[in-house]
Amino acid sequence: MRAMDKSIEEKISNFRRITTENNVYHPFLSFNQDTSMAAPEDIRKKWEIFLRRNRSKYVSLYINIPYCRNNKCNYCMYNSKILHDPWELDCYVNYLKSSMEFYDPVFQGYEFANMHIGGGTPTLLDNTQLATLFDLLAQRYSFRDNAMRTFEISPSSVTHEQLDLARQFGINRISIGVQSFNRAALELARRNYVPFEEIEALVNSINSLGFEALNIDLIGGLPGDTPDEFRNSFIKTASLGPTSITTYFFRFENSRYDQTMKYSSGFGWGAGSIKAFMENIYETALEYQYTIDNFSTQSLNNVFMRADYENRMSGYPTKWEPTLQNSCLGLGVGARSSILDVADIYDMGCAGLARYNINRALDAESLAIANTRYLLCFFDNRTRLTSHFLRQLYTNREISISSVQSIYKVDLREYFREEFALLVSLGKLSVEGDTVCLVVEDEIEWGVYSKFFYDERTIEEMAKPRPGCRYSSA
Ligand code: SF4
Repeated sequence: MRAMDKSIEEKISNFRRITTENNVYHPFLSFNQDTSMAAPEDIRKKWEIFLRRNRSKYVSLYINIPYCRNNKCNYCMYNSKILHDPWELDCYVNYLKSSMEFYDPVFQGYEFANMHIGGGTPTLLDNTQLATLFDLLAQRYSFRDNAMRTFEISPSSVTHEQLDLARQFGINRISIGVQSFNRAALELARRNYVPFEEIEALVNSINSLGFEALNIDLIGGLPGDTPDEFRNSFIKTASLGPTSITTYFFRFENSRYDQTMKYSSGFGWGAGSIKAFMENIYETALEYQYTIDNFSTQSLNNVFMRADYENRMSGYPTKWEPTLQNSCLGLGVGARSSILDVADIYDMGCAGLARYNINRALDAESLAIANTRYLLCFFDNRTRLTSHFLRQLYTNREISISSVQSIYKVDLREYFREEFALLVSLGKLSVEGDTVCLVVEDEIEWGVYSKFFYDERTIEEMAKPRPGCRYSSA
């Protein structure tokens, strides 16, 4: 390894600070650099062109219900708004209807790979609104064989009637946002605590209705939680036997906790403590017969599958592979659509309602497709290639030069000539034959050296909290 010059040393130290203090481990998760606004007609045209050329490719369908009941949970970085009045949801279901009608000419006859109804809190819809939504979906959309059709539910608002309606419509996977069985952590998060016995009764009810798959979400590293309590939440969850348990990685920067809690919440904030939350989970999961292919203590989410569960559903990649990478049609305010290799597209609702900094009810006028604007985030070639390269390195720990050449028509050694030379000289990259590996000791080193493929200013920008994620609360 060559002697390090001062500027490289400073760069490493800066990247280390950003990685550990701000929990920014994955530069490829924030890769949109070029954005513009667009009208619905522009987006429909983009889909039309895409489908003309790529009809056989996977497209999934996402329906967003961006409402929360009383307040926003402190850990949540999703764009959603507090429901001011139940009639808002009537207007919103109408908005979904007009969005569906608007895209009908393009998607008629197309078979979607999977569907996800999420939010927000989809179970805030009452029975009539939910039945209307399911009818609209049933009339319009068809799916590939064994498509996964997921309905996200909140344990504090779901009813048996809603589950029954979902089953009748053809939902085959339920996902419950439990997040934690630690009452103190949920209280700090301003989220309703639902006791284990009630979750157990809910799971029994879901099982009795015959859904094929059940997922339960947990969050690791919440303020007020401890590694032992988190393990306890995992064990309680596993004892309920869901077909999968998804653990999320809490990130302070985009949360709503009082910033002073970062250092005073009693669990010593920092990469080490998050790691402590996550690292004993792998062993615990195996002990309780849950398996996972690519576990990482710093991954934004880890999906543990019940070992005896044979997943017959398709169209929902649980690990990243180019062949399975989906495009997605997202409907509803705040929904993200993704047209593979073209752009990510966010439905911002009407102009002026962008990013949910709204503190009032959304009425029919503010929910009109004609007034809707979309935020487009384009991928330039470099961004796309860098993202692909880092994702592959992250999930497989190595990447084949020829596979990249076959997709992107470039030789990685030429394309990243300077970055490769520098990292090889630091002993952090190996290039042997067709294979490139990032030689890192742990997740922190991964966070530091993967950032060498971006310029420092871009990384500084990525590390900043996104103002759009904040909610001006009611
Ligand atoms: S986690 Fe909480 S704040 Fe976030 S969308 Fe769900 S209910 Fe709303």
